[in-house]
Amino acid sequence: MGKGRVLVWFRNDLRLHDHVLLHEAAKKNKEILPVFCFNPLFYGKSPINTNRTGPFRAKFIIESVKDLREGFKKLGGTLIVCHGNPEKILPELVQTYAIDEVIVHQEVAYDENREMDLVERELWKKKIPLTSYIGHTLYHKQDLPFPIKDIPDTFTIFRKKIEKESAIRAEYPMPENFAFIPVIDEGKIPGLKELGISNIRKNPASCMPFEGGEKVALSRLNHYIWETESILSYKDTRNALTGVNFSSGLSPYLSLGCISPRRVYHEIKKFENENYSNDSTYWLIFELLWRDFFRFMFKKHGNRYFVKSGIRNAAPIYFEGEEQRFESWKNATTPNRLINAFMKELKTTGYLSNRGRQIVASYLIHDLKVNWTWGAWYFEEFLVDYSPASNWGNWAYLAGVGNDPKEIRIFNPEIQARKFDPQNKYSDFWNNLV
Ligand SMILES: Cc1cc2nc3c(=O)[nH]c(=O)nc-3n(C[C@H](O)[C@H](O)[C@H](O)COP(=O)(O)OP(=O)(O)OC[C@H]3O[C@@H](n4cnc5c(N)ncnc54)[C@H](O)[C@@H]3O)c2cc1C
Repeated sequence: MGKGRVLVWFRNDLRLHDHVLLHEAAKKNKEILPVFCFNPLFYGKSPINTNRTGPFRAKFIIESVKDLREGFKKLGGTLIVCHGNPEKILPELVQTYAIDEVIVHQEVAYDENREMDLVERELWKKKIPLTSYIGHTLYHKQDLPFPIKDIPDTFTIFRKKIEKESAIRAEYPMPENFAFIPVIDEGKIPGLKELGISNIRKNPASCMPFEGGEKVALSRLNHYIWETESILSYKDTRNALTGVNFSSGLSPYLSLGCISPRRVYHEIKKFENENYSNDSTYWLIFELLWRDFFRFMFKKHGNRYFVKSGIRNAAPIYFEGEEQRFESWKNATTPNRLINAFMKELKTTGYLSNRGRQIVASYLIHDLKVNWTWGAWYFEEFLVDYSPASNWGNWAYLAGVGNDPKEIRIFNPEIQARKFDPQNKYSDFWNNLV
């Protein structure tokens, strides 16, 4: 019999490995009740009337939740899945299962923070504490060589300092024994329809053909590093526009926490020790630092990333008629074929290469002169790997109101096409799609 009963509230940490919450619960010898809530807040409308979550990500979340439930079942427990407001549901579960503590991973963006605050407030009325832990980044916040408020706003300065002065922690070991609280009703995992989302068939040419969940995430990592050794050429291939192995394909798994960034890091280190290390093996870690950087920047600057003036308080000027130009961008009917190809890929697969994202974002901002936040909202709907800090941080960066030390950064689509799609193969493929 455990010493207490803890509700483990899963959000964007849909895995069993390297999981601080599971580790803490086991360490304290507590019985656990794992719970995931589909919060309608994240399935509503944005201020510009786009959907907060589109079909590709919703499907990926559903698959990841299913996989986590299966993972718990193999260990003798289950995952309770609910559809509704966590601030209502969690206190009810606390009552039903005589829980004495709720634990959760800390997030960095407004809605996620508010979601947690609302739950905390309701639990407090029942004198039940909500304890939050850090666990989404590669570097632990407490190991940074500066307090959050003093983190440099320039990536290179941030990176050099942490690489020199901070270390990456070991993974949390998987608990040896899980003590599960017997569950009365595990709840049905909603389908797209129940979440109010119409299904779209993903184009089979997608660079991201993978299913959600920890199982697939770990096998994808293995495939990319060990089976194909694609990691050895990552630095040279990462700017490609299409294919399945030009980059790691880990982003949706990292965004939903199906894989921990520390697992990726330690696996790369193992590969480097046992096989080879080169610029490419390092570069994947380098990119993970961008992910950390934007998360820490969100902690520092908060909601300013969601407004047009960004963290710089200087917004570009817009011209009349931006609604129409925004529509042409979304609908892939701009005068530029490469842009249209990218926008078609995004809309029919939920994924776009990093280079593609940079080019279409720059085009919307600098060529079409449209409010960049609209583009960010649109990405939020369609990207399978959407994560607030990475999306809004990158958009603000390209709009010149974020963390780019350069005043202005423009990706000229003609030059980009000559460089990355010289035979128009990519462009032709997506433009010829009906
Ligand atoms: C306008 C714009 C919006 C973006 N929105 C998102 C988003 O919502 N979610 C997201 O995960 N990434 C976002 N990115 C970053 C990047 O495009 C994707 O992480 C990457 O293309 C995902 O493919 P991959 O996993 O194969 O990447 P890889 O090249 O294999 O990189 C490995 C990992 O490093 C991280 N990473 C790489 N580049 C960046 C970057 N520029 N910023 C932050 N993290 C990075 C990601 O976690 C990625 O999975 C955005 C970039 C731009 C320009």
